[in-house]
Amino acid sequence: MRILIAGGAGFIGSHLSEALLAQGHQVVVLDNFITGNMQNVESFRLDPNFKIFEFDITQSLDWLEGPFDAIYHLASPASPVGYSAHSIETHLVNSVGTYNLLNLARKYGARYLITSTSEAYGDPLQHPQREDYWGNVNPVGPRSCYDESKRFAESLTMEYFRQFQLNARIVRLFNTYGPRNDPQDGRVVPNFINQALRGEPITIYGDGSQTRSFCYVSDLVRGLQLAMFTEGTQGEVINLGNPDERTVREFAQIVREICGSAAPIIFQPGRVDDPGRRCPDISKARMLLGWEPVVSLHEGLSKTIEYFRLYNDQGLPV
Ligand code: UDP
Repeated sequence: MRILIAGGAGFIGSHLSEALLAQGHQVVVLDNFITGNMQNVESFRLDPNFKIFEFDITQSLDWLEGPFDAIYHLASPASPVGYSAHSIETHLVNSVGTYNLLNLARKYGARYLITSTSEAYGDPLQHPQREDYWGNVNPVGPRSCYDESKRFAESLTMEYFRQFQLNARIVRLFNTYGPRNDPQDGRVVPNFINQALRGEPITIYGDGSQTRSFCYVSDLVRGLQLAMFTEGTQGEVINLGNPDERTVREFAQIVREICGSAAPIIFQPGRVDDPGRRCPDISKARMLLGWEPVVSLHEGLSKTIEYFRLYNDQGLPV
């Protein structure tokens, strides 16, 4: 198959590209490198089945030659630090960019998948979060450029499904981690690992009682492929994440232990609108896709920490 991945040089996009190439597909990537990184695709950049274009999908895609069998929309800053620094771009890629990709999918009769987010639930009042929960989002807060633009993208995608019978689905990704996590993006996984490895203070924002549920990237990439290609998924919204819920405080301890680090833990002011509890209900993914994560937090973190050790020693993504 010939598959387009917008955002294919990002953390998740690069793993998805690699997996699809390994299965013998042709992969075309569009990335404007705001938060993506050419080094993420370095190990397969010269694969004859791989093509990458530096391009912003908010611009016209008329020049892009199809056909495509499937189109993945993974193009958006996704870390709180990343989308705060690029808030207008985040709005545009999830609105205009989504519109452009939906039209492209329509033109070529391609399957379409957009990665939405657990942030669509905001600071959730229901727990764990099921897909039929409408969320609790501050529409004008500092996270709203991401939350609201993803919600807009979901709504537009559903219109293309309803009006044009586009073979489209929405997946809501929960926190994902693994090799190629951007060490600069300020997220809890790269921050804590690098702090622990360097013996620097581990910075907990707030009192650390907030929770997150961490999914290893290989599990997520398997879920993305199943969500795209399993029959009966069009028009569906599906959570993908690991329901193994941890407090941030507990997470700091685990990272410290696996790193064998004596780094102190310090508490800093909490982030505005930081969701208090986050955990996916993945019953729907289990039922529709037969999917659930298989990599434990301990195993996934050990691999990720190994990656960061190498990255720090050699300065190269692996
Ligand atoms: N966090 C933290 N210290 C850090 C980075 C993040 O305590 O150095 C917390 C953050 O406040 C949030 C959680 O870890 O409660 C996850 O943050 P992250 O930026 O990874 O992504 P989010 O899930 O908020 O999108």
